[in-house]
Amino acid sequence: MRLSDPHLLAALPALGVERVAGASLAERTSLGIGGTTDLLLIRKHAALPELVALLRGGGIAYRFLGGGTNLLVRDGELPWVVLHLAKQEQDVRLEGTVAFVDAAADLGRTVTFCARRDLGGMEGLIGVPGTIGGALRMNAGAYGMQIGSYVREVELYRAAEGRNETLRDEKISFEYRHTSFAPDDIMLAVKLELPSKPYSDILQGIRICNEKRRASQPLHQKSAGCIFKNPPGASAGRMIDALGLKGFAVGDARVSDRHANFFINAGKARCADMLALIDQVRERVRVVHGVELETEVILWTEERL
Ligand SMILES: Cc1cc2nc3c(=O)[nH]c(=O)nc-3n(C[C@H](O)[C@H](O)[C@H](O)COP(=O)(O)OP(=O)(O)OC[C@H]3O[C@@H](n4cnc5c(N)ncnc54)[C@H](O)[C@@H]3O)c2cc1C
Repeated sequence: MRLSDPHLLAALPALGVERVAGASLAERTSLGIGGTTDLLLIRKHAALPELVALLRGGGIAYRFLGGGTNLLVRDGELPWVVLHLAKQEQDVRLEGTVAFVDAAADLGRTVTFCARRDLGGMEGLIGVPGTIGGALRMNAGAYGMQIGSYVREVELYRAAEGRNETLRDEKISFEYRHTSFAPDDIMLAVKLELPSKPYSDILQGIRICNEKRRASQPLHQKSAGCIFKNPPGASAGRMIDALGLKGFAVGDARVSDRHANFFINAGKARCADMLALIDQVRERVRVVHGVELETEVILWTEERL
């Protein structure tokens, strides 16, 4: 979508919002798939309520993009603009065992920043790409831990109220790859309370997790991590592997040879190829294992959220 309303375009600089015209989402997502649209880069959290009000007033649909590492985006001219938080110069601040982190901060860098100051707990998240905001939205986790366990407060733009607010942890539920945030809430910052641990112990945990990832995941290929959530008590990857589907492909969309729940873009995969692969694998699992797999990757394939 190309923004053309002169009133809206004229209002952006005063809000500190920069417009990147015709941004390619293929270039901004780890799968390397997706069409183009105008991207609005937000430098000040305080600008969001007014920006969203302007977009809504103009009937312009929008979506929020973090690091783009858990997304499958449709091709062509996209029917919504994309909002994106600019990285802050200093995006993590510590007070004792509490870390105040901007939502645009890189997740991995936040984990190592805290680790070097003897704050642990998030070792399992090393190697999970993307932003703190994206991790909060999905309650990212791995190797038995999840980010939600350490959240004390979240500052967010609440779309329903049209304003920025702070939510305490008792008002938020974090479940397996699911949170109680509304689909159009936008996370702005988080307060994490982390356990004190010697850096050497944290580093050992980080090394173990890194090793496990390197041994089992196609880290040098374009993917969005696990395509499906694990059903209760089972592993989606093992079920797909048991069907002999590693290497199974639709066009350039392929089930990884290394990890059957990672689907990769092996060249010029289109969104339709990846969707067809997802559907075909899901159908085979349903028929043989009797389980309906739910996608973990977020699909930006429909016009509406
Ligand atoms: C190689 C690889 C390994 C991975 N391993 C793991 C793993 O072990 N565990 C795991 O949980 N995930 C894993 N992932 C998936 C992904 O990295 C995480 O889900 C990550 O937290 C997504 O963050 P992001 O900033 O990239 O979000 P995006 O992909 O940009 O967005 C994902 C969703 O979150 C929303 N979102 C993003 N930022 C915000 C915000 N500030 N406010 C509101 N909504 C927001 C978007 O609108 C979208 O709906 C992996 C991905 C890859 C490529």
